Amino acid sequence: MTGQNLEFKTEVRQLLDLMIHSLYSHKEIFLRELVSNASDAIDKLRYESLTNSGIMENDTELKIKITADKTAGTLTVSDNGIGMTKDEAIQALGTIAHSGTKEFLAGLQSKDAKDNPELIGQFGVGFYSSFMVADKVTVISRKAGPGNQGVKWESAADGFFSVGDDERQERGTAVIIHLKEDDKKYLDEWEIRDIIRKYSDYIEHPVVMDVEREKESELKKGEKYKVREEETLNSRKAIWLKDKSEVTDDEFNEFYKHISHDFTNPAKVIHFRAEGTSEFAALLYIPSKVPMDIFYKEFKIGPALYVRRVQIMNHCEQLIPPYLRFIQGVVDSSDLPLNISREMLQANRQIGIINKNITKKILDTLSDMKQNEPDKYLEFYKEFGRILKEGLHYDFSRRDKIADLLMFRSINKPSGAHISLQEYADGMKEGQEDIYYITGTSLITIKNSPYLEAFKEKGYDVLIMLDEIDDFIMSGLHEYKGKKLKSVIKGEIALDKSDKADKEKSKKIYEKLLELIKYQLKDEVKDVRLSGRLKDTACCLVTDEGDIDPQMEKLLKAMGQAVPDSKRILEINPAHPLFEAMNSIFEKEQKSVVLEEYIKLIYDQALILEGSKPKDPASFASAVTRLMVKNAGT
Ligand code: ADP
Repeated sequence: MTGQNLEFKTEVRQLLDLMIHSLYSHKEIFLRELVSNASDAIDKLRYESLTNSGIMENDTELKIKITADKTAGTLTVSDNGIGMTKDEAIQALGTIAHSGTKEFLAGLQSKDAKDNPELIGQFGVGFYSSFMVADKVTVISRKAGPGNQGVKWESAADGFFSVGDDERQERGTAVIIHLKEDDKKYLDEWEIRDIIRKYSDYIEHPVVMDVEREKESELKKGEKYKVREEETLNSRKAIWLKDKSEVTDDEFNEFYKHISHDFTNPAKVIHFRAEGTSEFAALLYIPSKVPMDIFYKEFKIGPALYVRRVQIMNHCEQLIPPYLRFIQGVVDSSDLPLNISREMLQANRQIGIINKNITKKILDTLSDMKQNEPDKYLEFYKEFGRILKEGLHYDFSRRDKIADLLMFRSINKPSGAHISLQEYADGMKEGQEDIYYITGTSLITIKNSPYLEAFKEKGYDVLIMLDEIDDFIMSGLHEYKGKKLKSVIKGEIALDKSDKADKEKSKKIYEKLLELIKYQLKDEVKDVRLSGRLKDTACCLVTDEGDIDPQMEKLLKAMGQAVPDSKRILEINPAHPLFEAMNSIFEKEQKSVVLEEYIKLIYDQALILEGSKPKDPASFASAVTRLMVKNAGT
């Protein structure tokens, strides 16, 4: 063999180290992972053979075979699927493809992993899980297609692996596990049967094993003899085509784990069949936790697509809208052509119908969950709400339905409690016309925010939005059941009619002073006006209706986007004694140095309240100090 010794990538070494040293209690899952890889390899072969018939060669039945060799102490999982070339083997079995797993490993302290073996379960372990039970793993493979050379890959998980040529003639792959002394029980026929039935029963291809059976002689009554026969261990029925009553929760959960590489049970199973304009069966899952890699570009979106039980692809993005990208599962269509290509999917009418159907079903399920299992729904929302609400922006036709699924904290609710828009609307005070919300980065600053003073005084509730995208999304939603959604830090606020009358009176008194302030701050603010939202605080900055809020502005700048310079509006509380005092200085002396300094100071204060910094912190500090000294009378 012309062999090469290669070193594993760092992240594989970390993963292997974790595999070998952790005390994970479900070691048997290695067999599920290998059978699952073998089944994927057969699916790939079958899919390719649709357009390339030569690839099947002189074919035998597609199957996965398990061989236990007690003398050698090896367990082999082989398949006659697509196989691998040497380069593919180096790539597939020497690196980790999912960046989520990479990041997870990089952040993981090995101590944590040893103390919490269940951590392993949080990401797809795949092929490498065989090292939980193996001293050494050998993979022999030959890629489908005439003329391809076989490859032998081997590793004892010591940081290195070897690859070289192999004389294997048959297409496909054999993974040979050299079992550790303590794990020899996996050679036992009944153990293997149990594991296959538990984890891989639904695998569509036969998982076979040679078993020894005693038979009664037909010639001589009473005499028995032994035969070795190939037996299929799995029932092979596609779980999504079975009747709901035929499938146990455990089976649904196991299937989820198989397709999602998640080790936690899903939060919800959605299993249905559609008839009519489009005939298909769908088995969909809402996971319990956000997968680590969902925010990465390589995250694969969409359920697997089957056409009459033949897998077309693992993830079909066209089947669901992007704001439901956390959904996992299988869709099996009876109407699509088997040879449908990826390019054709884009424009396919059937796919469009299925997408519509599934979207409706998922949103209905969520609204059902919200109604009937509120605690569970809240758990779901905390994990996936941020993704779900993108739908308000992208799916105009279902806006109202999605709006009904939103949950918010609010200033009148105890911390931790959430309400929906409907609950907010039902609790609105007499005379309150709009739905109010405040955006910000932390609950504490929001709860003490001066922008809320008038609302608190009136007892109005205000929804709290902490996600960066909230302002963008809420201004897109605009209204809910005829009630306008208004940001309390944006635009003009007049909570009721008497406020308006008061304002008119104050306006007359402060007209000139306002003009002076406006003139002095003309480069900093768009306008200076009297506030309808302040009660105790002297002044604040607000964003003009239609402009982006400071939070969003910071986010966009951090993302390197050009943000149009939008000036804010300075609002002044006419009921605050400071302005009475400033007004009397102004009446005495229009060009007062003290007044000029005060104007600078109120602007800087307003910046701080908004969460920004004064432009010139040093001069702000010295102005404050001067005032303190003066006030102390020294
Ligand atoms: P995953 O299956 O999630 O991609 P694995 O670590 O289990 O991760 O496998 C890595 C890769 O190795 C697979 O994506 C596939 O390309 C290749 N592979 C594993 N087993 C087989 C097999 N039996 N036949 C062909 N390719 C395989």
